[in-house]
Amino acid sequence: MEFRKEIEFAKVLLPNGSIEENRIEIRYDPLTLQTSRVLKKKPPIPEIQGFEEEIESTKVWCPFCPERIESMAAKDPELLKGEFLRRGEAILFSNIVPYSKYSFVIRMTDAHYLELEDFKRDYFDDSFFLIQDALSRLGEGKYYISIGMNYLKPAGSSIMHPHIQTLVSETSTDYFARMDWSALEFFEERKKDYWKALVEKEKEIGSRFVGETAKTTWLAAFAPKGFFHFIGVPEEREFMNMSEEQISGISEGIIRILRFYASKGFNSFNISMFLADRLGEHFRTNLHIVARTPFDKYYWCDVYFPKLFHDETISYLVPEEYASEMAEFMQG
Ligand SMILES: [Zn+2]
Repeated sequence: MEFRKEIEFAKVLLPNGSIEENRIEIRYDPLTLQTSRVLKKKPPIPEIQGFEEEIESTKVWCPFCPERIESMAAKDPELLKGEFLRRGEAILFSNIVPYSKYSFVIRMTDAHYLELEDFKRDYFDDSFFLIQDALSRLGEGKYYISIGMNYLKPAGSSIMHPHIQTLVSETSTDYFARMDWSALEFFEERKKDYWKALVEKEKEIGSRFVGETAKTTWLAAFAPKGFFHFIGVPEEREFMNMSEEQISGISEGIIRILRFYASKGFNSFNISMFLADRLGEHFRTNLHIVARTPFDKYYWCDVYFPKLFHDETISYLVPEEYASEMAEFMQG
């Protein structure tokens, strides 16, 4: 496993007459070799403007609010026989705009809007248990299954109300395929799955190791795909067989990361969990979380041409610097 990087320096003549040298690290993801650019200089970001208006105006029509969900949500006619699945405040149903064979939405909370520090472990636990329930009804066959979350508009969410999604597809997404074959290659060479090896290596190095929750290790990604990119690696390989302790370990890690994001003034995030189920021993379920540029009245989109067309992330935050700060939050 290699943590490879190239370094470039860029000189700029500042308006005050001084010359500034900027260091740009081009880092290769140790699994997929996809590159990310890590800078040490932050662009000027204006102060957050409140968005109370947005919270109130979206509440009026929100299909996930308790008074509307029964009449507005789409249901799955086959696996779930036209029923909702419920647990705590969480409700699982079908995405009305599906983009894979099965496309579920889990409405996490009764509350329409939550500050990041108000997300509770139960909200994630209940949602994950409902997903396990829905997936347990799947028939035979190879499926690529992922769980994702977009929170607030900068993360691409059209609906503010906290919700998680699950995609079950016979065909992998582009990046899932890349991960799958890279992991297979790694496994054939090393007789060990990549994520297990990554955890061992990162614990040895130490500078990107963030901490542990029950049965789960948390790392700052070497080649981040966004701001504050952390990776969660569970001990139990397949999601559908995960114990309550394993699921709670994952949920607990997520809420600690959200508290860290909040402490940094961030309020929007994306999660993707790639499931090992039905893929084979070379693959281990792995979770990724990044913060997005904060939502405010005039928020800025951080997916620009390098990300959209080059599939190249630009991060102005350095993993080895924020990993130690996150480590404190991971201790609870
Ligand atoms: Zn709502």
